[in-house]
Amino acid sequence: MRAEISTKNIRSEFVQRVEELSGQDLLACYQCGKCSAGCPIVEEMDIIPNQAIRLAQLGLEDEVLNSKTIWLCASCFMCFSRCPKGVDFSKIAEALRMIAMGTEIEHYGPQQVPWEIAAEAPQQALVSAFRKFSL
Ligand code: SF4
Ligand code: SF4
Repeated sequence: MRAEISTKNIRSEFVQRVEELSGQDLLACYQCGKCSAGCPIVEEMDIIPNQAIRLAQLGLEDEVLNSKTIWLCASCFMCFSRCPKGVDFSKIAEALRMIAMGTEIEHYGPQQVPWEIAAEAPQQALVSAFRKFSL
């Protein structure tokens, strides 16, 4: 009798959680590195995007959740536009931030921004910040 082989069996709970939150197929990444090669802020990161994905694929939660990279990603989508497998790292980073914060509820909303800042800050900066702190 042949054993049933299912891709679900090779997905750890952590991988499944990241995929559920991000909507991305984490295991589709085959480490070509094109995402990292195109990232405009890769030099500021402690691990580069494809390394972060690899750590997540392997279920190395502490290593990936404690990286600066998931907080530095600016969600510019350059990596997504270059990925031959259609993996959007910005969504994976977003999912990892949610897990790192230990909750999926909104921590910080527009109503908490002091009006002086809301009036002066570029809209894009506010949108980018809220992507990090809220669902
Ligand atoms: S470009 Fe896509 S397939 Fe290549 S390493 Fe990055 S996420 Fe993985
Ligand atoms: S979305 Fe994030 S990881 Fe991807 S290229 Fe932009 S800053 Fe880099």
